[in-house]
Amino acid sequence: MQTFTYQAAPMRVIFGRGTLNQLADELARLGVSRALVLATPHQVQQAASIAAMLGERAAGVFAQAEMHTPVGVTDRAMAYARELAVDGIVAIGGGSTTGLGKAIALRTDLPQVVVPTSYAGSEMTPILGETRDGLKTTQSSPRVLPETVIYDVDLTLTMPPSLSATSGLNAIAHAVEPLYARDRNPIISLMAQEGIRNLAQALPKINAEANDIEARAQALYGAWLCGSCLGAVGMALHHKLCHTLGGTFNLPHAETHAVILPHAVAYNASADPHAMAEIARALGAKEAALGLFELAGELGVRRSLREIGMREQDIDRAADLAVKNPYWNPRPVERDAIRGLIARAFAGSSPVDDVRTQAVPHT
Ligand code: NAD
Repeated sequence: MQTFTYQAAPMRVIFGRGTLNQLADELARLGVSRALVLATPHQVQQAASIAAMLGERAAGVFAQAEMHTPVGVTDRAMAYARELAVDGIVAIGGGSTTGLGKAIALRTDLPQVVVPTSYAGSEMTPILGETRDGLKTTQSSPRVLPETVIYDVDLTLTMPPSLSATSGLNAIAHAVEPLYARDRNPIISLMAQEGIRNLAQALPKINAEANDIEARAQALYGAWLCGSCLGAVGMALHHKLCHTLGGTFNLPHAETHAVILPHAVAYNASADPHAMAEIARALGAKEAALGLFELAGELGVRRSLREIGMREQDIDRAADLAVKNPYWNPRPVERDAIRGLIARAFAGSSPVDDVRTQAVPHT
């Protein structure tokens, strides 16, 4: 028998096609009459048309959201929110826009409706990562949880194939680590396997046909489940490594996850064979790490750190940083082995060698 703790997140979720039409009703339910609509510069038109759709219920648009939630951007958004006397937030976009909404909610406790258009999953977590003077720090607070999340499959159709693939693999990473988390629980493990299974089936179909509605719906559903797992249990080597690499060497978020995931899983393979079997089964693959590596290959995603902008001379520094602050991982985090992992990820070589050469007895 397993003893465990499970904490449910109290969000209201609306899922379907055309569900954006319910936004005004959701704001009314929350008592919001002057919403600030957030987006990235890339999605400013979408934000403007949502504001137009909301009429007087929208007080204005702030379309300056950036990756990794820089506090300077949040400060500007806060000043604008005060100027407009807004009483709620609508965030439409990927994890960058959701992050800005969460940063405002942390400071104001304003109600938020998030309309995710990528597979990042941030809308399901109480986690907020903010960047100040180039340093990213992460905190967890129930204040940042959105009140309502509206998943509208139609809004994901415009996601370019490359973003669909990397964002989808990023989502899979959110469900892989919970399966070997120290504080794992059976509810989250169920959601994790279902999330991986849905994304692994849908992503190749989306890659072949970006407008495949059934596949898009399956991927968004999978991303929701994966995001729920990310917020619910502790993350390990994969997430810590991506955080270090992304933050220190300014590597792109979702792409870094896509490169590292097979290697982090290979590193941990011998320490938790049960989790590996669950991951492999959910992927429909013979072996977890290789299955992830092959899925990335099938999606045409870049599989080496070299290709996404890391320099070879930074491998040693990355290894040093990765072991600097100790954290729990199913297999002990050892510098030489981690250096090997990063070197393989840098070169884009198969993680199966990792499994063979790095296997340690299960303790
Ligand atoms: P993103 O939000 O930066 O989006 C990338 C680009 O794609 C942006 O220009 C965006 O406007 C655009 N885009 C998004 N959806 C689109 C669509 N449907 N059609 C066309 N363009 C679209 O990237 P992301 O990968 O979604 O999120 C990454 C960020 O989220 C990082 O900052 C990461 O740290 C954060 N994140 C946080 C958590 C958390 O729990 N706190 C979880 C996951 C990710």
